[in-house]
Amino acid sequence: MALLHPTLKIKPREGKRARAGSPWLFSNEIVVDAEIKRLDPGAAVNIVLDDGVPLGTAIFNPRTLIAARIVDRTPDLALDAAFFAERLRRADALRARLFATPFYRVVHAEADGLPGLVVDRYGDVICVQMGATGMDTRTDDIVTAIREVFAPRSIVLRNDFHGRTMEGLTSETKLAFGPEPAEITFQENGATFICDPMTGQKTGWFYDQRANRAFAARFAKGRSVLDVFSHAGGFALAGLAAGASEAMCIDASEKALTLAGRAAEASGFADRLNLRKADAFEAMEDMAAQGVTFGVVISDPPAFAKSRKDIEPAARAYRKMARLAAGVVEPGGILVLGSCSHHIDPERFHAECAAGIHLARRPARLLRSAGADADHPVHPHLPETAYLKALTFALD
Ligand code: SAH
Repeated sequence: MALLHPTLKIKPREGKRARAGSPWLFSNEIVVDAEIKRLDPGAAVNIVLDDGVPLGTAIFNPRTLIAARIVDRTPDLALDAAFFAERLRRADALRARLFATPFYRVVHAEADGLPGLVVDRYGDVICVQMGATGMDTRTDDIVTAIREVFAPRSIVLRNDFHGRTMEGLTSETKLAFGPEPAEITFQENGATFICDPMTGQKTGWFYDQRANRAFAARFAKGRSVLDVFSHAGGFALAGLAAGASEAMCIDASEKALTLAGRAAEASGFADRLNLRKADAFEAMEDMAAQGVTFGVVISDPPAFAKSRKDIEPAARAYRKMARLAAGVVEPGGILVLGSCSHHIDPERFHAECAAGIHLARRPARLLRSAGADADHPVHPHLPETAYLKALTFALD
């Protein structure tokens, strides 16, 4: 019987990681013959090892280092709207067991069997990010499947992120279905938050820190909280909801701080929140010089390492961040340090945080080492995609 997809062969002795369970095949592992050269980026292919063993159905991109991403171990699977609907239902069923309301990341790429695809649910608004050409070329089927499974009011394609250029894709925000959504109001960790799915950072909200915010909030009662790189106040407001005496958000973005302020208003604790628009490093140095300290300090910056060549300068920046943040923690206080750079592995991040805290001359103990919340699962064969790190220390 004729096959649906062309065959992509793996070179002799290559494909070991994929054979062992990884979904990725690198460009140096594949045989590029005349037929493969004619394929469009994003084409579906059947992966076959040199010894004839089939590895499954993949999406192919001749332009990227990751040449093929296996979608399923079944060969010749049709990647159509029905396929996407089935994957969305499976991913959503898992989240529905974790969360009472539909506010979570419902698809986290490879870990949910949809390489390069991210889908966030904000109630009846769905935000999508396509980070692989094989997903981008199937936008229509993905949108059809989302409509079928979630019956949303609006679907927004937040394809305005840097990673797409590596795939040869353009950066843009597009409304794929329904009216342009307004701001969204939702509950998390006992507080009310506001996000803008059209223009907010990433898809509007960072769900990945939800559980880490809840953990930090357990130390907040009766104490002051400093939320550095606060964005819209996820950590600060969780602390206030847990009974913090007061909180301060520091961010360079006026827009993020305005959302934090309005969220505090909506939550009923605006009188306990201070907002400071500043460079985080300068603000921390400034406060330390004035002897200002807080009971719980969180510093959760944007990715300092955007690529491999940034690793060393980023590592130095994390060390400095840890040193400065430790300097504004009161005696017996708590320090939470975050990193979302996937180029900085957990061991390195731990080492830089420990070094920075030591430079601040603060004896400390590590209470908790965590990653992203469970709606951001990790593919077991791609530990390097576990980008988020959050370390909680108690300082003397
Ligand atoms: N902690 C947040 C997420 C932080 S995202 C949460 O839990 O949701 C990183 C934030 O750092 C962004 O809001 C960005 O505006 C801010 N930022 C980037 N560079 C900064 C700088 N030099 N000083 C202060 N804030 C900065």
